[in-house]
Amino acid sequence: MRMKRKGILIVVSGFSGAGKGTLMKQLVHVYDNYALSISMTTRSPRPGEVEGREYFFVSRETFEETIAKDGLVEYACYCDNYYGTPKEYVERQLDQGKDVILEIEIQGALKVKEKFPTALLLFVMPPSAGELKKRLVGRGTESIEVIEKRLKRASEEAEGIEKYDYIVINDQLNECVLRMHALIQSAHDTPFRNEEFIENMRKELEAYR
Ligand code: 5GP
Repeated sequence: MRMKRKGILIVVSGFSGAGKGTLMKQLVHVYDNYALSISMTTRSPRPGEVEGREYFFVSRETFEETIAKDGLVEYACYCDNYYGTPKEYVERQLDQGKDVILEIEIQGALKVKEKFPTALLLFVMPPSAGELKKRLVGRGTESIEVIEKRLKRASEEAEGIEKYDYIVINDQLNECVLRMHALIQSAHDTPFRNEEFIENMRKELEAYR
């Protein structure tokens, strides 16, 4: 019997308004082997956002205390607010064999890749820049100043896309969820994510030399 498959970290980034949140919720809803990490942030909740569901909304002091206690896998500053990934939940879910999804921006994504080389990095893109602006405006949750800041940030983030393993174009939701799931499943079967299994096989095969 093959040993139990270990969970991997799936890092999902993408421009603000690319639809990552909806995509991730759908992925976790359709398949049961994913766990969605909930970040801590100092930004204020948007209408409809719930404490502990979208984020843990905390003060700057609490955030800085958590950094000092080494309680975060990574953190970054994005458009004047702190965002970070609480460590405990991620470690517990990985130990249980779940694939843990981190929906984080690019600086955090690169830090995760350094710490966890087997992490899979996905970048969600809208079909076009025009569509991105349309979605941000249509969401109606941000002022025009904030939208402009986020579009400027998108243009900066676009510089780093080649550092990701795959891009995922978010055109049609269900198709996109299927494609993401397929990419994650294929990633599990790469040799460098199965070193222990391969090493054991080699050892067992030595007996036949
Ligand atoms: P929003 O304010 O739109 O919810 O998120 C702004 C950006 O912060 C998004 O790109 C989102 O992916 C990113 N983000 C959310 N949580 C985290 C986190 O824990 N760490 C990092 N580095 N980025 C995060």
